[in-house]
Amino acid sequence: MTEKQAATGSLANLTTNSAESSERAFAGRLPSVERVLADAASAPLVAQYGRTQTLTALRSLLAELRVELVGGNSTSDVPPGIAGLTAVLAERLAKTAVSSIKQVFNLTGTVLHTNLGRALLPDVAICAVVDALRSPMNLEFDLVTGKRGDRDDLVEELLCELTGAEAATVVNNNAAAVLLMLSALAPRREVIVSRGELVEIGGAFRIPDIMMRAGAKLREVGTTNRTHVADYADAISPRSALLMKVHCSNYAIQGFTTSVEVDQLAQLTKEHGTPTVVDLGSGTLVDLSQYGLPHETTVRETIEAGADVVTFSGDKLLGGPQAGLIVGRADLIKKIKRHPLKRALRVGKLTLAALEPVLALYRSPEFLPERLTTLRLLTRSQSAMRVQAENLLPIVQRTVGPAVVVTAEPLFSQIGSGALPVDLLPSYGLALRMNASQQRGRGLGKVERMLRDLPRPVIGRIANDTLLLDLRCLEDADEAQFIAQLLKLSS
Ligand SMILES: *Cc1c(COP(=O)(O)O)cnc(C)c1O
Repeated sequence: MTEKQAATGSLANLTTNSAESSERAFAGRLPSVERVLADAASAPLVAQYGRTQTLTALRSLLAELRVELVGGNSTSDVPPGIAGLTAVLAERLAKTAVSSIKQVFNLTGTVLHTNLGRALLPDVAICAVVDALRSPMNLEFDLVTGKRGDRDDLVEELLCELTGAEAATVVNNNAAAVLLMLSALAPRREVIVSRGELVEIGGAFRIPDIMMRAGAKLREVGTTNRTHVADYADAISPRSALLMKVHCSNYAIQGFTTSVEVDQLAQLTKEHGTPTVVDLGSGTLVDLSQYGLPHETTVRETIEAGADVVTFSGDKLLGGPQAGLIVGRADLIKKIKRHPLKRALRVGKLTLAALEPVLALYRSPEFLPERLTTLRLLTRSQSAMRVQAENLLPIVQRTVGPAVVVTAEPLFSQIGSGALPVDLLPSYGLALRMNASQQRGRGLGKVERMLRDLPRPVIGRIANDTLLLDLRCLEDADEAQFIAQLLKLSS
């Protein structure tokens, strides 16, 4: 039922009820706004929501009823009493007051789920954001000189320390970082990219489109599966601005393939002077293999291989707030920072407040799996999730009823957000299937809907007539709330 249907539904009830209760006080006429507001029943609404909001809601309610009356709808020719009207009003005002932003349980198995807000931040970052919200800060104020500062200064040194780059700047997200980098470094000139790397990341981020928007000219080289150094070398001309590599975030090409590594492009840069830039996508700051995860090229490795500029996201593997980080050669970063788009794409203080403490965590890589939320989720042990699944099974079973069979099963989670697209993490969770006698698809859809309709919606994933609840992202702190909500539902 949509909200609109719900509203008309309750109106219909209201008018029918009032007809039945022979409340004909207004005999075909609606009470005035003033009369309703003056009634004692309106007082608590005015007290809670204020006169302005109550009045607006009342006016629109009366206007709707007036239309019904004019339409000669038989159930509506007796207008509701004031008590009925204020009851509907209370319902509507309460509905408006509910926030459209909701916390959910991410049981999809995708840790960095773009639609569910990607990385969850560690407490140090959360506290820093709260402080930044509450008090003035040195956002663009140099406390040493007492003069105007640059907001990038708050994190530039840390970024350089962690990546080995000479300079750094921060923008709103990685898409913005790529757009700004190309706009600043390649206006009306050619950017040489392999045909195997002309990716679409999703949500309308396509390398050829971004290139056009940035005013650069895409010079494709090689083929989808194979591109060689010679292909880049042959394409270099006085019109070339950049050699560019793009991380194939959300797909992998397998079989008869060749691609050119950053160090090979850097060699061409040495010979021809055309800088090498890399859109690393997720871009991690540490070697993830030390935590038992698959290796993903780090930003430092990319810089050390000779990349002149590297862009990456703040809220993917890095585990921080949404941001686009640009690191690299000092002269190129300077050019990027001076471009007018930088001002349009700059980050706010909340982003910087969250980013700095997250970056600082990387100074102690040995504590990261415990302190960096994203890494903690990615490295959760399958046996811990198995115990959790077995504990939750009877509770979930009771909630969904005997028409659904719930079992605890090993699953595979994904990192998500285009990080390591083909690597799957062994996980554990609950599998919900309809009993053989039930209508499979529809029944399961109802269960999925029921979980999604909870006060804190539970989001799983459906595959092969099975609703999977992957427990990787249900940490202890949240588990109690998860259980309490289900118990309330089944009691
Ligand atoms: C994710 C990604 C982007 C976009 O980054 P956002 O931070 O989501 O804007 C761009 N390029 C690559 C290769 C990516 O993986």
